[in-house]
Amino acid sequence: MSKLSKNAFAIMAMCENTKEPFGITVDPREGSYAFAWAFKIKKEQAKREGYDKTHVRGAVMFDENFNGCPYCGSKNFYICNRCGKVVCYHGQEVVTCPNCGSSSTLQAADSVDLSGGGF
Ligand SMILES: [Zn+2]
Ligand SMILES: [Zn+2]
Repeated sequence: MSKLSKNAFAIMAMCENTKEPFGITVDPREGSYAFAWAFKIKKEQAKREGYDKTHVRGAVMFDENFNGCPYCGSKNFYICNRCGKVVCYHGQEVVTCPNCGSSSTLQAADSVDLSGGGF
């Protein structure tokens, strides 16, 4: 795990395959959000910590040591445009958010935005 700045915070994400929630430690860097570490967490615990109230808006990059989704290992993610949840992604054209059930088509522009930072 890379060294984090003091501005690092955690957000809630959800695995598309298992529909299990997990947390991601996010470190704001150079105008974008670096996903630094993903970890399994129980919904109740996340609520207690307030993670479920945090949403990321803006460009996302991945830290070189980012471990990916703790359930399925995916290192690709999208942000649901309805509920703002971060969801792991497996290359399909139409995605259904495991959190709010909304289906959307991922456009090329979105994926460029999400995978910014040299990947
Ligand atoms: Zn996953
Ligand atoms: Zn959603």
